Amino acid sequence: MTTERLYYNDSYTLEFEAQVSERTTHKDRPALVLDRTYFYPEGGGQPADQGVINGVKVVDVQTRPDDRAVLHILEKPLNDPQVEGQINKARRFDLMQHHSGQHVLSKALEVAAKAATLSVHMSPESMTIDVNRADITAEEWAAVEELANQVVLQDLPVRAWFPEPAELAILPVRKMPDVAGKVRIVDVGGFDITACGGTHVARSGEIGTVKVIKADRRGDTTRLEFRCGVRALRDYREKNAIINRLSAEMTVGYWELIEAVNRIQSENKSLRSELKSAKSQLAEAEAASLIAGAGESRIVVCAFEDRSADEVRALVTQITAAPGMVALLGAVGDKAQVIMGRAEDVPLDVVPLLKSTLKTLGSERGGGRPNFAQGGGIPATLNALESALATAADEARRLLGR
Ligand SMILES: [Zn+2]
Repeated sequence: MTTERLYYNDSYTLEFEAQVSERTTHKDRPALVLDRTYFYPEGGGQPADQGVINGVKVVDVQTRPDDRAVLHILEKPLNDPQVEGQINKARRFDLMQHHSGQHVLSKALEVAAKAATLSVHMSPESMTIDVNRADITAEEWAAVEELANQVVLQDLPVRAWFPEPAELAILPVRKMPDVAGKVRIVDVGGFDITACGGTHVARSGEIGTVKVIKADRRGDTTRLEFRCGVRALRDYREKNAIINRLSAEMTVGYWELIEAVNRIQSENKSLRSELKSAKSQLAEAEAASLIAGAGESRIVVCAFEDRSADEVRALVTQITAAPGMVALLGAVGDKAQVIMGRAEDVPLDVVPLLKSTLKTLGSERGGGRPNFAQGGGIPATLNALESALATAADEARRLLGR
């Protein structure tokens, strides 16, 4: 049995009485068909209403495809023959504001940006419209918003009705659906006339502010995200709080924020490059002092705390750039590293030296070439690393006869 859809003529009544005409299930959940309902079933891009029926939570509302009966899907079964329904007001009104706002915005996009609506998505979290243009300019976006908000300020009456075929034939309808049977028309004060089955505000003023908050180009189309009414206010409040906080932290007016961020970015870039050259000078000086400290053997042995593998590797490279040098270095830590190298003129393969050092430390992960090898990744203390490197140094001295 089909359901009389009372929300078609009245989207403001949110409490009603009805007779249960069928008890059924929908995807294993209990569902009721009522003789009449104000609950909006999901459709036309608009999400379903939520609320309660005789105190039992209505988790979803769907249209049964074969007979268009409205299924009120419940949290638990209900056996009463007569029921009282209550619709969640905040959710419904938010969706009404956005659905009416979407109609106004779609028309404003046509008028001010020559962009036609391809599809619409509405949810309590996000509202989007896909349009058939990819190159809408900032001026056009501004014109679209101005026009939509003018329509709001004019507080035009919004009318929804099922016109007779003769009347429908002469209406300048923006978007006609491909459906059999009677077509419902929603007219926002003559500004936008379109076919729609959704719930709408009675006057355009109730939509409140209409704001496009984001536009993403997708191939030949654009997906725009918008907010209306209370959601637009919430969005403004959140963003304003962020902007004010950033301005206070950077001690500039909000209009100077972009410039301030650019300045920080460029300062950061030059600081990075200064730091890089300072670090390399430091490594050069450190390498020179380590080379001097190695004395006759020309073998540098050292375990570092608080050094990254990259820094130790750079030091090995610096040391072994000098003829005759061997560097057997390590970085202490949870993932300790052993890095060994030698100058081109030294007849020594550091790979077996590295392998035996790593074995002492309990790792087999490492390798390299005769002149440079690296490995580790296991936890090692300063003592353990120093002792393992000292053994490697003895072996290197023996092999080289130094
Ligand atoms: Zn609609």
